[in-house]
Amino acid sequence: METHLADFIRHTPAGRDAEAILRKCVHCGFCTATCPTYQLFGDELDGPRGRIYLIKQMLEGAEATERTRVHLDRCLTCRACETTCPSGVHYSRLLDIGREVLEARLPRRGVDGALRVTLKNLLPRPALFGPAMKLGQAFRPLLPMPLKAKVPPATSAGAWPRAGHARRMLALAGCAQPSMLPGINAATARVLDRLGISLVEARNGKNAAGCCGAVRFHLGDAEGARDDARRNIDAWWPEIEAGCEAVVMTASGCGVHVKDYGHLLREDARYAARAERVAALTRDVSEVLAAEREPLTALLGVLPRLTVARRVAFHSPCTLQHGQKIRGAVEALLQAAGFETTPVPDGHLCCGSAGTYSILQPGIAMELRRNKLAALEADRPNVIATANVGCQAHLAAGTSRPVRHWIELLDERMIGASPAPRR
Ligand code: SF4
Ligand code: SF4
Repeated sequence: METHLADFIRHTPAGRDAEAILRKCVHCGFCTATCPTYQLFGDELDGPRGRIYLIKQMLEGAEATERTRVHLDRCLTCRACETTCPSGVHYSRLLDIGREVLEARLPRRGVDGALRVTLKNLLPRPALFGPAMKLGQAFRPLLPMPLKAKVPPATSAGAWPRAGHARRMLALAGCAQPSMLPGINAATARVLDRLGISLVEARNGKNAAGCCGAVRFHLGDAEGARDDARRNIDAWWPEIEAGCEAVVMTASGCGVHVKDYGHLLREDARYAARAERVAALTRDVSEVLAAEREPLTALLGVLPRLTVARRVAFHSPCTLQHGQKIRGAVEALLQAAGFETTPVPDGHLCCGSAGTYSILQPGIAMELRRNKLAALEADRPNVIATANVGCQAHLAAGTSRPVRHWIELLDERMIGASPAPRR
């Protein structure tokens, strides 16, 4: 696609990125077929090709308008279009650039602006979000339904094994996950402990790790997101220098963002090299376990057979399958553990959670969730599993069937497997 970017952006790093991305797009429209919002609205401007045009016009100097905002806001950043695109167009990066320009040129006002400011100040701060979640859980039966759907019942994390193995990996404590579903990282720690790996969270001290930065980034606060990334790098660096093998992600939405730290901080002379190193060390937990397949298979092989049918419908989050291009790994691990995975039609489509999207675009999010749950429940599974806290809470609010993180199923399956000896 021929482009003539305007002077305000042409010679900037973002402008160079945008130009390279736009030039790759051949306007074929294959991507529209797999776009969830195009499927719902049937409008070219609610599909990737139309949005690419809107962003291109803005970067070429056209006025930033509310019409552009409506169509960019409706995009889930699910990246199904990237999976479909035969030309390798990095749509999500162009969208990030377009959204940043739009926010700068046409600041948000009114309720929408206030809601976004609240979200980006509340969600990434465990010190604020944690007590708010606890309060919500205490009064959950009294909450109105839309709010109740965002507040999962209180659960306990279970024991976190003592860190005594020579092999160590870092876990991202995150922001919302420890308050909403604290069992996920603890289950990961127990599974890795059985494989002879200690999982540690850099949660204490002045430089404790926290939110990965995705919340702020997707709410148009790129500089706030860079600060989040710098803080996490500082918190993790001593462990990394001491030989920590990987930074393990249990929320695929965080994983896809941390894997992009190198790009996010590429203009920061102090942090660029460290950000690259952190990104290179970052692994989804399914990647970590796939690399430990031999000892894991040996552990699973001695477990008693499942006595009750455990049919699992796996919802692969967009950030796992499209963002990180990890496909089939979780299903293979569940099958190796003795679970039966059920077929899920249209597995490439988003469930509607998409970070803060379900709060900002509730109508579209509910429709996508209805469709997703119908697909997941078509084969009557005992349990729905997923790999991202946001999808888990969003789906759970729409069904009476249990919705779990898959690592919790694996952890429960491995109860009785002996922990690996410590040094
Ligand atoms: S990211 Fe998802 S919603 Fe946005 S244009 Fe691509 S396919 Fe459509
Ligand atoms: S499939 Fe790729 S090349 Fe074709 S219109 Fe969509 S983004 Fe452009």
